Amino acid sequence: MGAIDPEKIRAHVRFLASDQLEGRGTGQRGGDMAASYIASQFASYGLKPAGDNGTYLQKVALEGITTQPASTITVAPANGAPIDLMFLTQFVGTDETGKQRDDIDADVVWMGYGIDAPEFNWNDYAHVDVKGKVLLMLVNEPPSDDPKFFAGKALTYYGRWTYKFEEAARRGAAGVLLVHKTEMASYGWNVVRSSWSGERDYLRDSSVPKLRLASWIQFDVARQLAQACGMNLDHMIEAAGQRGFAPSPLPLKVKATMFSEVRHFDSSNVVAALPGSDPKLHGQAVVYTAHYDHLGIVHGLAGDNIYNGAQDNATGCGILLEIARAMASAGHAPKRSIYFAATTAEEQGLRGSEYLARHPPVPDKDISLALNYDDVPPLGVPEEVNVAGAERTTFYPVVERTAKEFGLAIVPDSQPGAGHYFRSDHFSFARAGVPAFSIDEGDKYRDHDRQWGTQQAQEYVAKHYHQPSDEYRPEMDFRGDAVMARFGIALGWEAANQAGLVGWQPGDEFGKMRAAGK
Ligand SMILES: [Zn+2]
Repeated sequence: MGAIDPEKIRAHVRFLASDQLEGRGTGQRGGDMAASYIASQFASYGLKPAGDNGTYLQKVALEGITTQPASTITVAPANGAPIDLMFLTQFVGTDETGKQRDDIDADVVWMGYGIDAPEFNWNDYAHVDVKGKVLLMLVNEPPSDDPKFFAGKALTYYGRWTYKFEEAARRGAAGVLLVHKTEMASYGWNVVRSSWSGERDYLRDSSVPKLRLASWIQFDVARQLAQACGMNLDHMIEAAGQRGFAPSPLPLKVKATMFSEVRHFDSSNVVAALPGSDPKLHGQAVVYTAHYDHLGIVHGLAGDNIYNGAQDNATGCGILLEIARAMASAGHAPKRSIYFAATTAEEQGLRGSEYLARHPPVPDKDISLALNYDDVPPLGVPEEVNVAGAERTTFYPVVERTAKEFGLAIVPDSQPGAGHYFRSDHFSFARAGVPAFSIDEGDKYRDHDRQWGTQQAQEYVAKHYHQPSDEYRPEMDFRGDAVMARFGIALGWEAANQAGLVGWQPGDEFGKMRAAGK
């Protein structure tokens, strides 16, 4: 841990966030240059390549899909006039299969929340045939104050829109009409509209189930559809959250034509290994991740058109590289193997880490713990650490003890209803059954009050987050990033040496696969 040098983290950030790297866009030259840089750093530390064919690079094949405005959805009731939905104002959607044109003609099933959650004894899919159907469903999850039922006020993954589309695709549905309601989604239609009007990127991986129509519809449209069936949407929503709710086919047909512009491109994760020292345990692993991609260069944009991504996430890459260098130079390796992975396409929806967790260097069941760094502010010496999700794992007592040794207070998740745990690369491992969390600073720094830190964070979000102005500045203070690196080494080293694999707390929604030994 003593080898961690904040000035080396600075050097990585300064280079990775320089204009030469063109914002490290996925599928762009700058992104590929960042991958080469990180790979050559790993090589210089003497780490083993753990990518494809004896290299450090693991190819990630992607497909960018842009829905064209000519796309149409018409809903035809058994009785009454067909209802045409307006693109962007009433619906948004993607044909995930990557066809340029797709004509869908399917029956509609009302699914309520569209959730199969065995740990809460809840399964909307139990008694209904959804193959080839279009599923009308709600975002979020059955409302609850009971921590044992959908985790009370906190959002479980079952409530996220990504889950709804993934589960429907796994079940063989043709499509989903996801009903948007501001209070239930926690953001307005404008957010849905803007994030679905441009290109969306998916893995070009035939093992991933895809929907022909992954769409959101505006709340008033859903009300109209219910009325066309002689039903009342408010009553339907009320019933969907109650025990005993059963999905039902609706007297509706969806006729949709989806036109898509489809672009194929490749990127790479960068993966290196420090082989474990124990002959029995070296087949098991601890994984460190940080995404190297950012938003790239936007040609034709007036003014500064390079999204340098200094804080997001050159900082995480600098930390990852310093951990890799320090561990490689320790003179002896821990019992289990350590993998270091700089992931791509995080900004496109965690796609690089999704691919890595689907094609891991050792099976997911043998990965004890995954630790991630994303956007770690270079603001000086931290007095707090944010390890949201660590409390879901059996490793939490070690995390608590280590935080104490470091003089770091653990900060609680300030917005459990917002589902932050589902929005960075560690989550790709969690959903594959691997105990995983991100390590970040809280708002309290030495020689400042908490308000100062909160102000810095708010200013960053308001002015620089995902903006060309997220740039390297000489006054950045990397001592905190160094503390986070040392803290991560302490945790990873212990996870790599302790007797058993890290597990999930009983009943955790991500514990099913590990419990089943998968
Ligand atoms: Zn990030």
